[in-house]
Amino acid sequence: MKNIETVDVAIIGAGSAGLAALRQVRKRTESFVIINDGAYGTTCARVGCMPSKALIEAAHAFHARRRLGTFGIRGGEALSVDLPAVMARVRELRDFFVAGVVKATDALDERSIAGRARLLGAGHLAVGEREFRAKRIILAPGSHPIVPGPWRAFGDRVQTSDSIFELPTLPPRVAVIGLGAIGIEFAQAMAQLGIQVTAFGRGTRLAGLTDSKVNAAMRAVLDQQLTLCTDGDAELSEAEGGIAVSAGNTRVVVDQVLVAIGRRPNLQGIGLASLGVALDERGMPPWDPTTTRIGDLDVFLAGDANGHAALLHEAADEGYIAGYNAVADDPTCFARRTPIGIVFAEPGIATVGQRHADIAPGTAFEGEVDFSRQGRSRVAQRNVGLLRIYAAREGGKLLGAEMCAPAAEHMVHLLALAIGQGLSVQDLLRLPFYHPVIEEGLRTALRDLASHYPMDPSDLASCPSSKAEALS
Ligand SMILES: Cc1cc2nc3c(=O)[nH]c(=O)nc-3n(C[C@H](O)[C@H](O)[C@H](O)COP(=O)(O)OP(=O)(O)OC[C@H]3O[C@@H](n4cnc5c(N)ncnc54)[C@H](O)[C@@H]3O)c2cc1C
Repeated sequence: MKNIETVDVAIIGAGSAGLAALRQVRKRTESFVIINDGAYGTTCARVGCMPSKALIEAAHAFHARRRLGTFGIRGGEALSVDLPAVMARVRELRDFFVAGVVKATDALDERSIAGRARLLGAGHLAVGEREFRAKRIILAPGSHPIVPGPWRAFGDRVQTSDSIFELPTLPPRVAVIGLGAIGIEFAQAMAQLGIQVTAFGRGTRLAGLTDSKVNAAMRAVLDQQLTLCTDGDAELSEAEGGIAVSAGNTRVVVDQVLVAIGRRPNLQGIGLASLGVALDERGMPPWDPTTTRIGDLDVFLAGDANGHAALLHEAADEGYIAGYNAVADDPTCFARRTPIGIVFAEPGIATVGQRHADIAPGTAFEGEVDFSRQGRSRVAQRNVGLLRIYAAREGGKLLGAEMCAPAAEHMVHLLALAIGQGLSVQDLLRLPFYHPVIEEGLRTALRDLASHYPMDPSDLASCPSSKAEALS
């Protein structure tokens, strides 16, 4: 008879979600296994957030030479970029971040299993020849970049974010296919590093923006740095001296193509059918974001694999929730944080709360600021971008914002706090705004928004009652 090992919890995937789950599980039990297929070190540290930001920082630093002349600093145009050195630094930083993460599983000995796990039922799974019974299972297998099958025939001339950081250098001509967050970050970074970039998108929306005014402002910035083609689906073909990428009336021949058309949950072949729950048309099981539970099973689904929000902090939260619930008697329902998204472009692209497209027409007022004349941004030669903010017509409660703006990554956190606390336009205007800061631009947008309401025209709150009447 086959030996079946038993554990309290089995975690599938040692990425950010799986490791966050592991931290919770270990507070209550040491009877667990964590199974990981492929490289350790998490997508975020290995091929995602961190190496991409290392590349982007190099690009922004080099691009800054174009502003130096305006400050009276001469010689900036003579600077050059050493692409192999840029890529080597990206990998060096990547290795540093990965080394920090792999420690979490290194110390687990036989409870950390390298291999591909597959479900055999709600409390039953296998890794190679080994089988386990687990009271609770946490699925955190992440996602992978989508590459259309025929494009694989181009070999290493077609790259994804999973492979590009391994390149010793970057070629002179690159096509980026996909204008989502990842595509935009790479396209602008490579263009700023002096590479001739043509970026292709299926629609005109950039990096998840839904506010057409903000989208247009960002497009105007990118149009000066690279060629954007939004004429339809891109097609690849062999061409003399490279790969031809065509869409609509555009055809370019490039040395390399970066495919960034989206990521798919790593759920295919994992055995979801064995759970006995109905899968939707995308093959996804019924899933509760507040408990991370699949249906009413003792199986939890966390991180990119659930297709909810492919972001590091969301993966970590879902890992926390899954781990917490996997060792609890009954699942606890957790409130999710205010949605926030940042794309590390220049200017930064960010969304917070409800996006423009999520708000029912006629239910909100809008305010905006154009950063071209904003004081601190002008002083810093960063005066590019547009911020738009939305609040409920009734009561003025802040709903959300979209922006491409200097300091977007900071302003979006301030707004997330305000939205999470249920603050109104007037509440936020009562914050102190130091002078001169980029946040004064946000205040301009808030004042524009406040002008729609019959409110107290002062940003300052009146003094609380002195209780003088009570004394008299
Ligand atoms: C280029 C890029 C840039 C990004 N930038 C940002 C950013 O700036 N900010 C941000 O918030 N997010 C960013 N992200 C997203 C972020 O990296 C992910 O949301 C996060 O890493 C997802 O973590 P995870 O635990 O779900 O998946 P992962 O970290 O991918 O972990 C899943 C693990 O499970 C393993 N696995 C898969 N199938 C099995 C199986 N059957 N059995 C066992 N193991 C399995 C996988 O091999 C992997 O090791 C970026 C992503 C990319 C690709």
